[in-house]
Amino acid sequence: MTTPSADKDAAKPSNFLRQIIERDLEQGTYAQRKWSGHPGDAATQHAGVPDPAKIRTRFPPEPNGYLHVGHAKSICLNFGLARDYGGVCHMRFDDTNPEKEEMEYVDGILDAVKWLGFSWDANGTSHLYQASDYFDFMYRAAEYLIEAGLAYVDEQTPEEMRANRGDFSRPGVDSPYRSRSIDDNLQRFREMRDGKLPDGAAVLRAKIDMASPNINLRDPALYRIKHAEHHNTGGKWCIYPMYTYAHPIEDALENITHSFCTLEFEDQRPFYDWLLDRLAEGGLVNAPHPRQYEFARLNLTYVITSKRKLKQLVDQKHVSGWDDPRMPTIVGLRRRGFTPESLQLFAERIGVTKSDSWIDYSSLEAALRDDLDPKAARAMAVLDPVKLVIENWGEVMGGDDVLDPCSAPVHPHDESRGRRTFNFGRELWIERTDYEETPPKGFFRLFPGNKVRMKYGHVIECVGADKDADGNVTQVRAKVVPDTKSGTPGADKVKVKGNITWVGVADGIAAEVRLYDRLFSVPQPDTGEKDFLEELNPESLKVVTAYLEPSLKSAKPDEKFQFERHGYFVADRVDHLKGGSGKSVFNRVTGLKDSWGR
Ligand code: ATP
Ligand code: MG
Repeated sequence: MTTPSADKDAAKPSNFLRQIIERDLEQGTYAQRKWSGHPGDAATQHAGVPDPAKIRTRFPPEPNGYLHVGHAKSICLNFGLARDYGGVCHMRFDDTNPEKEEMEYVDGILDAVKWLGFSWDANGTSHLYQASDYFDFMYRAAEYLIEAGLAYVDEQTPEEMRANRGDFSRPGVDSPYRSRSIDDNLQRFREMRDGKLPDGAAVLRAKIDMASPNINLRDPALYRIKHAEHHNTGGKWCIYPMYTYAHPIEDALENITHSFCTLEFEDQRPFYDWLLDRLAEGGLVNAPHPRQYEFARLNLTYVITSKRKLKQLVDQKHVSGWDDPRMPTIVGLRRRGFTPESLQLFAERIGVTKSDSWIDYSSLEAALRDDLDPKAARAMAVLDPVKLVIENWGEVMGGDDVLDPCSAPVHPHDESRGRRTFNFGRELWIERTDYEETPPKGFFRLFPGNKVRMKYGHVIECVGADKDADGNVTQVRAKVVPDTKSGTPGADKVKVKGNITWVGVADGIAAEVRLYDRLFSVPQPDTGEKDFLEELNPESLKVVTAYLEPSLKSAKPDEKFQFERHGYFVADRVDHLKGGSGKSVFNRVTGLKDSWGR
């Protein structure tokens, strides 16, 4: 695992979040704040030392699914900014909702963050937290708000509450419970906590302003009743904090300085500040308290980034699982052949902005190509094979069985990586599309009478082809032109226009190759009238039996290659050589250039 180094960061373009951080560092906004070594209330933190972390950010997923490429943006942003400014990024599970969370997802999320190259350990301290550990404090803060006359228990029905909230044109109407006494509120809230009321019978609300133009300030709910077990706290609680109440408190207890979230939370910011201002005034949380800043979420064409909908794809078996190589999940992208570096590069290139936009899927693939091109070993592969027979091979080479060793660089721009070897022989596999009986204009490959170079091998002249009763070509026939082998003196005296990739029948290895394509046929599958499931691309997976050059015999699961002419491929991390079977399985990661839809 490589943690991206900070050296090259000087060159990183600035953005509005970097400017905010730099301003805070310059003004020393958080310089005096103390840190006890772990999350805690104001008293705990005050007893600590000046916070050694210059800034604190956090990545706070809800463990209700696998992370996707949108989360990758958020991870790169939060961990990346902390790294670049001498800070720490906390890994925090936002597990305040008792019903939807599963351990499988917790493990999957931690794996994804680590795989992306980031760590929540800083100077020997693990900053891995879970919001449910703060339930006691959240409860205490709620009683504080009640005692300060800033919260009340509302027992209107949900319908009444909705109707009385008003809308953009109408102010809200005060609940009849709004004027309850502090003592009544406290007693009723404790009854909520003690399980005396059924689900939905009451909520604790902040008492702010029912006429506020910001509807989120019209007495937002802080706690609801939910008689449900929680994976961490078990049956201890039957009231659970609302996300909008819990999140600012989580940030404050952890001494977060900059709380970055996506734009849809912009309207929540006034409440975030209201709550933390009140709790800081009351001496409950450290001051100055964290600030929330919003950035545009990643919208990627041809991709869905909603955990709920991704789960639907899995549950309804439209894909083979969360790690199906067509999924935009981090496990899916990893299995498809994406590298951590390519996702980091992608996140860097798209940057952060304050307005929503769509990023074209091709920029994700471009980042991958830019990362893989200098790294991936080259290999020849034939994906749609037809046999080519060299009729005069025995005559020219001294026997039909003679194999002629050929070689090619492992990487064209790095001699030090050595050469790969493979054999030329009487029978070779070539791509079916490399032969045309009557060539269209500009076709330079195999057709009767034409000469081409078999890449890294000999020049051959096409003689013709055999066909079955239906007119399908069963094999192509050719003659080798003597003394034309690549790398031998005078080899290029015969000029040809075509250069063809091939694999020897004698030493090629058969492999299952999964030709993945985009999962959806339209750029914005989730925005139109149609259900997103109707926009699934029926051609998103084609499985072929291909032949690969023998150097690929040693390919390890997860190893990436450039198959010459075809693009980037990865040995499938799950199925390649599964159980010592020896069966090669490769996934197409992406083509050599962006040709989608052309
Ligand atoms: P989903 O709707 O897929 O469940 P979410 O926003 O509810 O996504 P969380 O687990 O709450 O998922 O997200 C964790 C963090 O990742 C949040 O800070 C959130 O803002 C961020 N995030 C989620 N989706 C995106 C996205 N598409 N682009 C950027 N950041 C995102
Ligand atoms: Mg969420």
